[in-house]
Amino acid sequence: MKAVVFERHGGPEVLRYTDLPEPKAGPNDVVIQVKAAGANYNDIWARRGLPGMQIILPHVSGSDAAGVVVEVGSAVTGIKVGDEVVVHPSLSCRTCEMCTSGQEFFCREFKIWGFQTGPNDGSHAQYARLPAVNIVPKPKNLSFVEAASLPLVLLTAWRMLVSRARVQPGDFVLIWGGAGGLGVMAIQICRLFGARPIAVVSTEEKAQKVGDLGAEFVIIRTKQDVYEEVRRITGRRGVDIVFEHVGQATFPTSIRCLRWGGTLVTCGATSGFEAVTDVRFLWNKQLNFLGSHMGNKAELLQALRWVEAGKIRPVIHTVLPLQEVPRGQELMEKDQTIGKVVYVPDSA
Ligand code: NAP
Repeated sequence: MKAVVFERHGGPEVLRYTDLPEPKAGPNDVVIQVKAAGANYNDIWARRGLPGMQIILPHVSGSDAAGVVVEVGSAVTGIKVGDEVVVHPSLSCRTCEMCTSGQEFFCREFKIWGFQTGPNDGSHAQYARLPAVNIVPKPKNLSFVEAASLPLVLLTAWRMLVSRARVQPGDFVLIWGGAGGLGVMAIQICRLFGARPIAVVSTEEKAQKVGDLGAEFVIIRTKQDVYEEVRRITGRRGVDIVFEHVGQATFPTSIRCLRWGGTLVTCGATSGFEAVTDVRFLWNKQLNFLGSHMGNKAELLQALRWVEAGKIRPVIHTVLPLQEVPRGQELMEKDQTIGKVVYVPDSA
């Protein structure tokens, strides 16, 4: 089968479109024919290499896929060849105390599929093997491309806002990267819960798009002062929740933008890990800082119900042939995407 592989860390030039053996299902696995595969920022982290984290080489990236089941392991029940599915990208043992209490992200065996798995175990290929427990039915109202764009960012944004920050009707929510993969989900989740999303973007084109998507307010960070705009929008009160994933470049502003008693929830640090906190704000304003990482399968299923109901829509920036993964990564690294990049293998 064809796949996009890298054997050493570096820029997009280390990615090779090449041939690999097709995966075979173990007793508890399924093999899917990948009809479409999503791009995520973790593809870029893996390719670059991350200090303190082992990326297994050779590596096939890709944590999101939608496809058709072509092989079912001997111990698998309830799934058959021909089923149309999407991937739940959180792998874990499914038997420990953490897994059985719905906290699979705390399992000692927790791995993000296509990021921490390997060698050559991700969705940027014509076929992929997964534990059967890690696939869920494709929402019927979505194409494969649309479905492949969703799981990782939908799951992450849902957990951040719903399970962790407990977004409430009327909450002002400051959403960094409003036109990014996470951002387009966060805006829609806020609307679903009756909250008031304030999306931050870098261009007029992105501002238009996030407005269409439901952002009640939009701040163009390259032209406007985010803190001053937040004060104006909220009547000097500050926001109830900041949706963070940018890290170093935005963290101090995020803290300033919070209302007294407000909540910052973060899952990432695209701009750098060393985010500075003036701890006086933390205690004096009695702020809540919450970390969040991926989510559990139930959270994905809950969120997908709203997708099937048409209340959360995929946002696709572009669809590229699988061999153009380097181009997709470049678009993301240059912040040129509005929504998601999706790759389609030749045979799909
Ligand atoms: P994305 O689609 O590339 O969007 C990121 C957005 O961040 C961009 O659209 C950009 O928007 C904004 N941005 C980048 N640099 C910025 C800066 N210096 N200041 C302000 N805004 C900036 O990526 P994504 O899929 O949304 O993921 C975002 C981050 O979250 C990544 O680091 C990813 O690894 C992480 N993440 C973590 C988890 C988890 O579970 N832990 C899950 C998903 C993603 P503008 O240029 O328009 O402002």
